[in-house]
Amino acid sequence: MNMTQCPQCKHQRKGEEYKCPKCDCFYSPLDEILAAEADEIERRSFTGRFKVAKEKSNFGGAVKAEYQRIEEASPYNVSLILAVIVMFIFTMTLSVL
Ligand SMILES: [Zn+2]
Repeated sequence: MNMTQCPQCKHQRKGEEYKCPKCDCFYSPLDEILAAEADEIERRSFTGRFKVAKEKSNFGGAVKAEYQRIEEASPYNVSLILAVIVMFIFTMTLSVL
């Protein structure tokens, strides 16, 4: 098999492309595996970067500070309801992430 051109449309392969830009066909089964591998690495590195960003932003601390501010200005029963709402939103946010 000639790996320098597309097996379907014979489009000339350029550089490190895995797929043919004309017909979206992989140049070879090996290229299909490499492309899947590259996607996996990209996905993992994105997840890794996101985790670091989440830790740096101190999301939990910000929510806690906001809750304390509301608690100081509200009667006990109102702050209890707010605490439930905040906890609910917080849990929903975590489950989405
Ligand atoms: Zn092609």
